[in-house]
Amino acid sequence: MFERYEKQINYEKIGRIGQERLQQSKVLIVGCGALGTVVANNLVRMGIGHIRIVDRDFVELTNLHRQILFDEEDVANSMPKAKAAEGKLQKINSEITIEGMVKEVNSRTIEDFIKGMDLIVDCTDNFKTRFLINDAAFKYNLPWIYGGALGTSGMVKVFIPEEKSGCLQCMIPKPPDSGALPTCDTAGVVNTLTGVVANLESNEALKYFLGFIEEVEKDLVFMDLWDNTFKKIPQRKNEDCPCCVKETYRYLENKRPEATYICGQNSIQINLGQDNMNLAEIQQRLESKNIQTRRNPYLLSFEAEDVEIKIFKDGRAILKNAKNEDVAKSIYAKYIGY
Ligand SMILES: [Zn+2]
Repeated sequence: MFERYEKQINYEKIGRIGQERLQQSKVLIVGCGALGTVVANNLVRMGIGHIRIVDRDFVELTNLHRQILFDEEDVANSMPKAKAAEGKLQKINSEITIEGMVKEVNSRTIEDFIKGMDLIVDCTDNFKTRFLINDAAFKYNLPWIYGGALGTSGMVKVFIPEEKSGCLQCMIPKPPDSGALPTCDTAGVVNTLTGVVANLESNEALKYFLGFIEEVEKDLVFMDLWDNTFKKIPQRKNEDCPCCVKETYRYLENKRPEATYICGQNSIQINLGQDNMNLAEIQQRLESKNIQTRRNPYLLSFEAEDVEIKIFKDGRAILKNAKNEDVAKSIYAKYIGY
């Protein structure tokens, strides 16, 4: 049972006792893209006992350059990332529990996903979800690790509620307006950077799981790989912080379903929050109108009005090339129905 971990057990700070601690640890990875695939790969090979991966998306060709668990077959089959990752990871380590969940992390679902977990690793690409993770983490007293990557510069920050040393809202008062920041659509991202950021996140997770809480990084780590800049930037707690001081969690309490723009894909997601869609029934209805469809166990896809539409079982639809939210909503209403 310990043989596969021999090399890390030989490292003095791990040993057999450390390995046992890792095997008792439970982690939630939010997002299974450039960061999430690398973090999941590391934690699975380390032998973290229970790994839950939540991702709302499916694999596309433009993902392969940096999302290390996917291949061309996953693209051809429109495999959901969480399931493609789960399949590959379980082949790497069959001794641990790996749960790939094809769901969206939002204010209505996050409390279910964090249940029973010891740590949350942020592998998303947007601040809306990060502010939500921050609220949930502080409300339920769970540490979380923030990671961000764009171009060749990236950031990592660990937040531990118990330490009472501040949270994401202390660092950034509110999520930047959509469109205000460059994204991986406009600025691109280099795969060496996403690898470094995700490895730093995994490394902080390792220290936390081993119980070296004092040695977990306290500062914001900023890096630019083009000129090899690495800086540690201390962060200050805001004594009036609505989240970590006043304990009000407005991102978690806002339960409205909505349309969201998905970075990197020219896509809009519509989420009606109705679970258990009958994909077979929708498929029949569309085909009776001579619309060609494809279905796998997780999603149904078709094309209409030059928009590529994928519907998931949990009621979400991702519409690629829809001009704006209104167009996306009207196509959803017309072909899928409210
Ligand atoms: Zn705070």
